[in-house]
Amino acid sequence: MRIDLHTHSTASDGTDTPAELVRNAAAAGLDVVALTDHDTTRGHAEATAALSGLERPLTLVTGAEISCALDGVSLHLLAYLFDPAEPELLRERELLRDDRVPRARAMVAKLQELGVPVEWEQVARIAGDGTVGRPHVAAAMVEVGAVATVSDAFTEEWIADGGRAHVVKHELDPFTAVRLVKAAGGVAVFAHPAAVKRGRTVPEEAIAELAAAGLDGIEVDHMDHDEPTRARLRVLAGDLGLLTTGSSDYHGSRKDVALGQYTTDPEIYGEITRRATGAFPVPGAGGSPA
Ligand code: AMP
Ligand code: ZN
Ligand code: FE
Ligand code: FE
Repeated sequence: MRIDLHTHSTASDGTDTPAELVRNAAAAGLDVVALTDHDTTRGHAEATAALSGLERPLTLVTGAEISCALDGVSLHLLAYLFDPAEPELLRERELLRDDRVPRARAMVAKLQELGVPVEWEQVARIAGDGTVGRPHVAAAMVEVGAVATVSDAFTEEWIADGGRAHVVKHELDPFTAVRLVKAAGGVAVFAHPAAVKRGRTVPEEAIAELAAAGLDGIEVDHMDHDEPTRARLRVLAGDLGLLTTGSSDYHGSRKDVALGQYTTDPEIYGEITRRATGAFPVPGAGGSPA
């Protein structure tokens, strides 16, 4: 069974529509895929509808990747199978998502001051109705020829954390986020906790404190973790009684990683589904639920 628990669609900063993502996940031979757009569940309905058109069974795990920060360090919390209508978490998702618009506008203004001729309208067009994020700003920078690739925009010179044109966004305290996710019946997994190339990461003591506060697991097999880092995280998870997941963090053509490039152990997936009470995995056509 092949299980990929972290992907993005055009509902945030991926390039596949939710329907395309589901079709591509089936074509990639996945049995389970989680849709985890940044701070939103708006892709879930389209992804769910697309399951019925598939030729092979695929189970959809609904989720979101919640923007958090601890002591000024950004981090991402994957939330699975929570009740999307639970009002407190819904309100926080809306705050997180809506604040990204003035923040992206402010980055555009900074870029203009630095001589990069990007326009907000251009970023808004690229983002469409998805949660707007730095990858959209970066894509606009590629369009105007300021950088060659989206990755090249994520430098100190431009929009990496602390970069000249970077602007912070509203982020949730992760202890609050874990509490809200659990209260909405969801399962909380710390995404790429040691992805140092994205900027500062939180210390292991903070992961221990989050574990004590109800965190369910940490993402270990991720392209931003090298082998020694994964080994260290596995030991940490063992010590703290945390689940370990693996996933692609697929973003379509905006990132060089394939669906299913990293996967989650079926037993761990089973445990995630047993813990969740807010929503159930959605089985796709032609087969029994995975
Ligand atoms: P934002 O949520 O708007 O702050 O943007 C963060 C997103 O940018 C992450 O979720 C990644 O998808 C993407 N990202 C972060 N670092 C890089 C990088 N070095 N290269 C390409 N994309 C990145
Ligand atoms: Zn993203
Ligand atoms: Fe992330
Ligand atoms: Fe992600």
